[in-house]
Amino acid sequence: MSMVLTDREQRFNELFERLIDAMTENDRTDKKRIEDILGDIAAILRLSKAMTRLCRNKHEEDMGGGERLCSYDLHEEDEVLVYAHRLELSMMSYGTIELYMKRGSEPFDDFEKGKAVLVSKTLLTFLCRNRMKNVIRELALFDDSGFKNNRSFTNYIMETSARGDLGGRAAVHYNLRHFSLVNRQIGRDAGDTVLHRHFIGLEKLIGGRGIVTRLGGDNFLAICGKEQLDDVIAYLSETKVVYNDDGDSVFITTSTGVFVFPDVFVIKDPGEVLNNVIIAAKAAQNGGKEHVVFFSDRLIEGREKAMTVQQRFPQALANGEFQVYYQPKVNVFTGKIVGAEALCRWIRDGQVVPPIDFIPMLEETNDICKLDMYMLGCVCADIKRWLSEGRDAVRISVNLSRKNMMNADLLERIMAIINESGIPHELIEIELTETTTDVEFKDLKRVVGGLQQQGVCATVDDFGIGYSSLNLIKAIPWNVLKIDRSFLPTEGDSSSFVMFRHVVSMAMELGLQCIAEGVETTEQREMLKDSGCTTAQGFLYDRPLPKEEFEKRMEAKKYSI
Ligand code: C2E
Ligand code: MG
Ligand code: MG
Repeated sequence: MSMVLTDREQRFNELFERLIDAMTENDRTDKKRIEDILGDIAAILRLSKAMTRLCRNKHEEDMGGGERLCSYDLHEEDEVLVYAHRLELSMMSYGTIELYMKRGSEPFDDFEKGKAVLVSKTLLTFLCRNRMKNVIRELALFDDSGFKNNRSFTNYIMETSARGDLGGRAAVHYNLRHFSLVNRQIGRDAGDTVLHRHFIGLEKLIGGRGIVTRLGGDNFLAICGKEQLDDVIAYLSETKVVYNDDGDSVFITTSTGVFVFPDVFVIKDPGEVLNNVIIAAKAAQNGGKEHVVFFSDRLIEGREKAMTVQQRFPQALANGEFQVYYQPKVNVFTGKIVGAEALCRWIRDGQVVPPIDFIPMLEETNDICKLDMYMLGCVCADIKRWLSEGRDAVRISVNLSRKNMMNADLLERIMAIINESGIPHELIEIELTETTTDVEFKDLKRVVGGLQQQGVCATVDDFGIGYSSLNLIKAIPWNVLKIDRSFLPTEGDSSSFVMFRHVVSMAMELGLQCIAEGVETTEQREMLKDSGCTTAQGFLYDRPLPKEEFEKRMEAKKYSI
């Protein structure tokens, strides 16, 4: 028996086929087209209104909320609900559809009923699937705090590169400086607001010429137009961010690495771009005053040097290539040697390599911690020998990199080394630089407190160049404040003398001993005397000396000047 389709059936089948086509055609669905087809189908089914709704949860559904999509409405005054369907999804949504007819219309016949159910279910399934796609997209491209993530960045540069459009742009990696301090000062919630507003500010600045994404923590990665670079760098160098309705604000600065794409540039591997810009960013983070660094071949050379150092380190340590040099600390009034700082030198292939050429590289891999403990061991051994030889040993300070703070048993390790040598605790002093992160701060406080209990002195090194805050100094039981040499006035510079004197009196008020490093001239020494800073270390007296030379100085006990 052959089936003869009625006109109505034929017309429906045709529309339904077009509907399926429109829904499955490609990634970007044409909402208008789908709604037009649905309108035609509704007419065949004599519907006056069709409403779909997607709710993220039960509560939203009960409250009549949710998102309304694909509706069709003839705006009849008086309607009755003739069919409703609800689809429950395992993941975060409920979909409902409601169909209405004008009151008083003939009820659905079997054909209409069957098709209404079919279209409703099809439409809902389609909407839910689309919604799921959006959710997945959001999960894939945004992080938990709603910032675009690394995948967004990769997508962006791959698409831009495919259009041949990367030339003329720049990749920028930035890290907010001292952000944990900001968090400490204004609280985490306000800190989050700052992070968002700073981000949005940059997004606005860059607009359609690029993208801003978060790599994690306070590290961000952006693309911008080359012509925007000056403005972007100015923004990243310092921006005032208001974080509440009272208009309270903080200044945000960053360390920034920049990689400018060559005019003709096609990406093979997005990791390559990331690598380049991160090398520049690292240089910016480690590079003292330079807060913006452009990627260059010289940086790559630096990378290679760093890797050589890192590779050679274990063997060099085992070979005893690292040696302790001692730089005397002197009482400026009497010329008497009151102590010395142990400074590391790498004797490599007969050359004396200064710390700047290996310590930053060893900090990257945390091997610095091994070196520091080794140095402490050498110093303890030297002191032990001096004592056994009947010399008047002076207190020796040993530098510890902040990286050591990651070791939970740092204090125990330090004390184990000192105790093993059997020397009096007061002959060892530990130099640490100020800290900027919350976590480190707590550890620093614990370690310094512990040292003090054991009678080992603790010194803030390089005071004045970090993000110094009196509160941070006060909250940790330091014994000695070592003023960085950038605080020492050079000839004819009277304003820094005021600063210097101020720092010394402040340190004394806090009950700290004071030492100035980098004293090179007699004028500077006189200024120390005038300020009440009794101790100096610097080329005026001696450079860091090999052990034997230092022993001679210790023997002589004082300088004639
Ligand atoms: P630092 O601890 O601040 O050491 C003082 C630096 O200033 C030394 O540089 C010293 O030679 C230099 N200096 C002293 N007097 C003068 C002066 O009058 N004029 C000038 N221009 N410089 C002076 P050095 O030995 O090159 O060490 C550099 C840095 O390397 C040290 O700075 C310290 O941060 C680090 N370092 C050295 N040895 C070690 C170590 O064993 N462990 C760790 N973690 N760091 C170390
Ligand atoms: Mg030092
Ligand atoms: Mg120093």
